[in-house]
Amino acid sequence: MKAWLGSGEGGGLLELADARVSVLDRGFTVGDGLFETMKLVEGRVFLWPWHLERLQQAAQLLRLPIPEGNLLTDVVQQVAVANGAAIGSLGRLRLTVTAGPDQGAATVSCVALVEQPPFGAAALTLVGWPRNERSPLVAVKSTSYAENLLALQAARAGGAAEAVFFNTRDELAEGATSNLFIVEDGVVVTPPTSAGLLPGVTRRFVLGLAAADLSMVEEPISRARLAAADEVFLTSSLQDVRAVGSVGDRSYPLGPVTSLVQDRFARAASASWCWC
Ligand code: PLP
Repeated sequence: MKAWLGSGEGGGLLELADARVSVLDRGFTVGDGLFETMKLVEGRVFLWPWHLERLQQAAQLLRLPIPEGNLLTDVVQQVAVANGAAIGSLGRLRLTVTAGPDQGAATVSCVALVEQPPFGAAALTLVGWPRNERSPLVAVKSTSYAENLLALQAARAGGAAEAVFFNTRDELAEGATSNLFIVEDGVVVTPPTSAGLLPGVTRRFVLGLAAADLSMVEEPISRARLAAADEVFLTSSLQDVRAVGSVGDRSYPLGPVTSLVQDRFARAASASWCWC
């Protein structure tokens, strides 16, 4: 596999094993960085412009000096094309931008990895501490990701696929690596960003599928409302729209609305690939 690594003006494609970052890099020392995980299929990247937009907004918030112009698009394109054949039917393209060494330029890296497609409905466990919806980091895909990993590790240790965060008001926030949707009487409901969640590009894409026969609203969701839902599904770049089979002790069927959203997603997605 080929990786892209650089800082400032310099950088280029390298063998993955040769791509090394300084121990002084602030991404390494204090987690001062951002990343994007994208779906890569046969050299094409899904929804790249939206990933770029989110990264740029987050960089402003963190005052991270990300490269201007087309550099990031060139980097992603080069890595997608260089690894397209080796990746095959499903891969993960990961772009990381860190603050670099003190007073240095940002470090940019991009790698491609083979990914296994998700299998079946996801079982979800409940996280035992709240998501802080007032944290400035909640809407940012920061390399300070340990809280999500801790929740995910606990879920996986119990045989589940994902963990569910509630916020300090005890409303549904999001999964450790996904956004969540419920279905009530045929209407799709997802928490608003004020509930404390990463505004996922897949969530944005799904909300754009709203139509006369597919109502979608953003509303706070209490625990009781989640428990009473007819269907639950999650969204993320690597899982697309995935049915949720259970949250804690409560089981959910794979219902007709989730199947409809999956169908609409698959049809609409074909127009949103880059090489991009
Ligand atoms: N929420 C969190 C905390 C995430 O880490 C992710 C993705 O990894 C998502 C939601 C889903 O975002 P996206 O659809 O952009 O992949």
